Amino acid sequence: MLERLCIIGVGLIGGSVAKAARALGLAREIVGVDVSLETLRLAQALGVVDAGCVNAAEGAHEADGVVIAVPVGKMQAILAALAPVWSQQAFYTDVGSTKVSVVKAAQAVFGEVPANFVPAHPIAGRELSGVEAASADLFQGKRVILTPMASTSACVLERVRAFWQGLGGEVHVMSAAHHDHVLAATSHLPHVVAYALTHLLGRKDEQDEIFRYAAGGFKDFTRIASSDPEMWADICLANAGEILTFVHRFERELAALRELIARADRQALLDYFGEARAARQRFLDQNREKPC
Ligand code: NAP
Repeated sequence: MLERLCIIGVGLIGGSVAKAARALGLAREIVGVDVSLETLRLAQALGVVDAGCVNAAEGAHEADGVVIAVPVGKMQAILAALAPVWSQQAFYTDVGSTKVSVVKAAQAVFGEVPANFVPAHPIAGRELSGVEAASADLFQGKRVILTPMASTSACVLERVRAFWQGLGGEVHVMSAAHHDHVLAATSHLPHVVAYALTHLLGRKDEQDEIFRYAAGGFKDFTRIASSDPEMWADICLANAGEILTFVHRFERELAALRELIARADRQALLDYFGEARAARQRFLDQNREKPC
C-alpha cells in the first residue's frame, strides 16, 4: 500500500484513479493537485482526495506514487515543476493519450526519461470531463498500456504495473512509438472522423433539419464527438504525424467507396460492406469481454 499517492490533474481520469485507489485500498492518503481551487474543493467534498493544493511540487512532496493526469499539452510544464523535488523513492506515471509527446516532454526537462517514470495510457474513459464524472470502476478489466524506455528501472516498472493492475487494469507493454501508431488508427482517427461528420452536418443552416430527423446511426456514430475539445486539440497536435497518415488513408478509402456508388456498382458495394461487416464482427468476437 502507498503511504501517499499524489494525483496531478483531478479530472475524469485523475479522479477515477483516486477513487479506485481508495476503494481498492491502494493508498493510505491521497493528495490532489489541480489548477482550479474549485475543483480541489469539490474533489475533497466528494471524498476523492484527502487534501489538495495548486502547486505540483508541494503536492508531490513525500508522495511514494505520483500520477500525472493533465491534458497532454500540459505534461512538460508539470514535469518541469516536479523536477526540483523529483524523488528517487517514488514512482511516477501518467495517463496521457499520446506517449511519444510525453517521452519528449520528459527528455526536454530531464535530458532522458527518469528511470522511475513509466508513461502509461489507460484505454478507458468517457465523453465527460471533470471530477464529478470520475468513477472507481473506470479501469476494471480495461487495458492499460505502459511504454517504458531502455532507461526504465525494472523494479519501478513492476511497481507501476502492480499499481495499474491494482486499479483493475490489464497491463500491456509496448514502445511509445508503437502505442501512438496503434492509437492513431483505433482512437484518434475515429474521433477526427466523428468530429468532421458532426461539423459537416451541424452547420447552422442545416442543423435544425438534420438533428430533428437524425436516426440512431447518427447518434451512435457521433457519440465520441461529445468528447472534450481541449483534450482532442492536444491529442491531434501531439500525434499529428501518425494521425495525418491515417487521415490520408481514410480519404483514399472514402474516395474508393465514392467511386463504387458513382458507378452504381451494386456487387462491389455488397462486397465492400460485407467485408467491413465481417471485420467488425471479428473485432466484436475478440473483444467480447471488453466493451469499449
Ligand atoms: P479532465 O477531466 O479535463 O481533467 C484534467 C484535469 O487536469 C482538470 O481538472 C484540469 O483542471 C487539470 N489541469 C489542467 N492543467 C493543469 C495543470 N497545469 N496543473 C494541474 N492540473 C491541471 O480530462 P481527462 O479526461 O481526465 O484527461 C486527462 C488526461 O487523461 C489527458 O492527458 C487525456 O489525454 C488522458 N485520457 C483521457 C481519457 C478520456 O476518455 N477522457 C482516456 C484516457 C486518457 P481544469 O479543468 O480546471 O483546467
